[in-house]
Amino acid sequence: MSPDEPRQAARAQRLRLAVERDGPRCVWCGRAFAPLVPPTRDHLVPRARGGPSWLENEVPACRRCNSERGHRGVVEWLEECERRGWRPDEAAVVRALDALDRAIAERGGQRRARAYVAAQRRRLERRRAGPAAYGG
Ligand SMILES: [Zn+2]
Repeated sequence: MSPDEPRQAARAQRLRLAVERDGPRCVWCGRAFAPLVPPTRDHLVPRARGGPSWLENEVPACRRCNSERGHRGVVEWLEECERRGWRPDEAAVVRALDALDRAIAERGGQRRARAYVAAQRRRLERRRAGPAAYGG
């Protein structure tokens, strides 16, 4: 067994659990997963922004969305999806961010990820409160 195998098995397991939790389609574009559209793990808090490799930080996304989003913030990318006429699963994203926030509170550490999650949740709340919540 190569040293990477346990880690690969853990990643595959998290992907299965994320699909079970959020459904068999891309949370961003809504495409159903199929042999030609395999699920991937998209990190809500990008790893480059300190996001942990936890189930709570991962949502199932198609490869295209995962790679096109890059390091864009959750809300910025949600809005880009909507501009493209897709119907992203905002409820699944909000649930995952809430769960991630709780997981960080329980496990401690993750200072950068914690700040990122807090900022994204504030933006989501403002978005859901409607345009009146912006500016005025
Ligand atoms: Zn997608």
